[in-house]
Amino acid sequence: MYLREARKLASDRLREAGIDRPWFEADLLICSIIGMERTLLLAHPERPFPEHLIPELKAAIERRAAREPLQYITGVCEFMGRAFRVGPGCLVPRPETELLVAESRKYFKGGLFLDWGTGSGCIATSILLDNPGSRCVAVDKNPVALTWAWRNLREKDLLGRCLLCHCSSLERIPVPSPGFEMIVSNPPYIPSAQIPELMPEVERYEPRSALDGGEDGFDHYRSIVGWAPSALVPGGVLILEAGSCFEEVSVLIQ
Ligand code: GLN
Repeated sequence: MYLREARKLASDRLREAGIDRPWFEADLLICSIIGMERTLLLAHPERPFPEHLIPELKAAIERRAAREPLQYITGVCEFMGRAFRVGPGCLVPRPETELLVAESRKYFKGGLFLDWGTGSGCIATSILLDNPGSRCVAVDKNPVALTWAWRNLREKDLLGRCLLCHCSSLERIPVPSPGFEMIVSNPPYIPSAQIPELMPEVERYEPRSALDGGEDGFDHYRSIVGWAPSALVPGGVLILEAGSCFEEVSVLIQ
């Protein structure tokens, strides 16, 4: 099989499964399996697709056709211009969450911060890399998500500056004295009843614990906004991502 045929095989199947950009996604699957840049793939359709990788390609196509998120299959997701490892058990980082990291640059001047619901660790990692002297406590209630955060922090040599903590209630978070300089979070904020209506990639595959914000979607905001003042230093900052139910993307308590 040539690369041209591999592209056609994959894109035909993905189109049939209702994937929006079948050629593009077919290319990304092929590139991740054979370890090739997309420009090279497009420039050399006459090259052979390695025979021994055909079963892997077919399995990847079927996973995607079943609407598993592309990033779970390739194992990577770009966030703030860096590659993060992701897979079943953690939320795929969203582009809009980059806004939260960008906001943190305006308010965080270094020190210790908390990332509540760290998932893949994309927020904690990005802020630690932005602020070389900073340290972080990164918490998640899902132990599988924490394994992804651990991988990402390790790969970027940040384990020495981040305490990963498996913890489901705010009251059990280790709060150092005198408190955090900043708390950041992209909490689950989808109203429970809307979860079945989400796209299959999200509804079937992403962890419900990373999505479900309770009956009105506000459960986690209520708890964190109530708890944050006791965990922040005076003048500390709380930055939260919010869904479309909020007019403001960030809620700041100073
Ligand atoms: N902090 C992670 C992210 O923004 C996970 C968020 C979550 O699980 N709700 O991708």
